Amino acid sequence: MNSFRKIPSVDEILRQRQIEPLIELYNRRLVVETIRKAIDEVRKELSTMAEEVEKDQLLGRIMEKVRKMVSQATSGTLRKVINGTGVVLHTNLGRAPLGQRAMQYMNDMAVNYNNLEMNLEKGERGSRYWHVEELLIQLTGAEAALIVNNNAAAVLLGLTTMAKDREVIVSRGQLVEIGGGFRVPEVMKLSGAKLVEVGTTNRTYIADFSKAITAETALLFSAHTSNYKIVGFSEEVKLEDLVKLGKETGIPVMQDLGSGILYKLEEWGLEEEPTVQECVATGADIITFSGDKLLGGPQAGLILGKKEYIQKMKKNQILRALRVDKLTIAALEGTLIEYLAGKPEQGIPVIHMLTCSRDKLKGKAERLYNLLSTRMSFLKKIDDVVKVEVEDMVGGGAYPTYKIPGYGIEIKFKGIQLETVAKRLRLTNPALLTRRQEDKMLISVRTLLQGDEEKIADLLVQVLEK
Ligand SMILES: *Cc1c(COP(=O)(O)O)cnc(C)c1O
Repeated sequence: MNSFRKIPSVDEILRQRQIEPLIELYNRRLVVETIRKAIDEVRKELSTMAEEVEKDQLLGRIMEKVRKMVSQATSGTLRKVINGTGVVLHTNLGRAPLGQRAMQYMNDMAVNYNNLEMNLEKGERGSRYWHVEELLIQLTGAEAALIVNNNAAAVLLGLTTMAKDREVIVSRGQLVEIGGGFRVPEVMKLSGAKLVEVGTTNRTYIADFSKAITAETALLFSAHTSNYKIVGFSEEVKLEDLVKLGKETGIPVMQDLGSGILYKLEEWGLEEEPTVQECVATGADIITFSGDKLLGGPQAGLILGKKEYIQKMKKNQILRALRVDKLTIAALEGTLIEYLAGKPEQGIPVIHMLTCSRDKLKGKAERLYNLLSTRMSFLKKIDDVVKVEVEDMVGGGAYPTYKIPGYGIEIKFKGIQLETVAKRLRLTNPALLTRRQEDKMLISVRTLLQGDEEKIADLLVQVLEK
């Protein structure tokens, strides 16, 4: 095949005018290597083609590949996703999106030096754990606080510090797996604590706990099984009762709260979940929860508790392996300051989404509907677009049985499979994740962020025009 002779050389391509801006923007080595790869690909394509190809065509084909490959090589694997699912805390989508205050504070600390481990007043070495502690004490009423990598780490640190080689009593009904493969019994075993299971899967009473107490009991443990619910004939021990038993017997009580929330959501019909403040007020000795669930901050494990126990955890060598970095601390402080001094219903995206009024959601759905119907009226593959009421979810292992009424858009396609459109939308940049309702695509507006509506219209046009 004599087309091969027409393939331009690397040098020829480097002399093309369009290559110069690429070398300026990235670097010469990346561009040269990409050109080589593009030439190889074109050579392979030629070997399967019967017809002759002109040199100009080959050049154009290589240039197109180079541009695509360079852009791919520089875009990383994390991609922005538009969440049209209506699930506010989607573990697969990075859980809580951060608020502006957290983002700005984090940004400032990321690109500058900071006093992460420096006591500026004394001019000597300080502790990174000092930073968020005072804020958490103020917000929750706890005696002391400590931040680690995530809630799993918090539970591990708590158990291993309090109960290594000793007994921890826990209800069978709470030995569950929680989102993200966190298995309460596995983490307990890892901590070196001996698990003493009491009660049955559906019923555990306080008497089950008191009967199991021995001289070896180091801790009474309770996990807030927030991602599942046994309804009907079931009974769990109340934290208050566990704390009372702990006080009577002198054994500390630890609660894994899971999705800790600082903000009362009662007004919005989400009253079931106890707030962090309420749990602290029971007198529980140690409480742990995640930073990136209902709190709406970065991934982190927050530990609240009595000073003597937090002190012990700070001295535990294993803390070094569970420690948080400056970006987490900054994002967490920014988030907590929003609760303390700002307006969480506006400044914390998760809280904003959960407290958004039905009227506002309806307006948002109307705007999206208008955008879509004007942009897409000329698209042959759209059969119908309608505004609909939808049921949203909190997600992230909280309020498992709640369906929050919201609004969305339902799209019916024709001449194309719903699955095909959904897949194409997952592969755009940003990606768009939608829900399926029988043979229709559903986009809930609750979980859409600023600017997402316009983008959705663009993306749909993009994938349907193909
Ligand atoms: C989510 C959850 C965890 C795990 O928290 P991570 O922050 O993901 O490590 C542990 N326990 C409970 C009860 C949870 O809900």
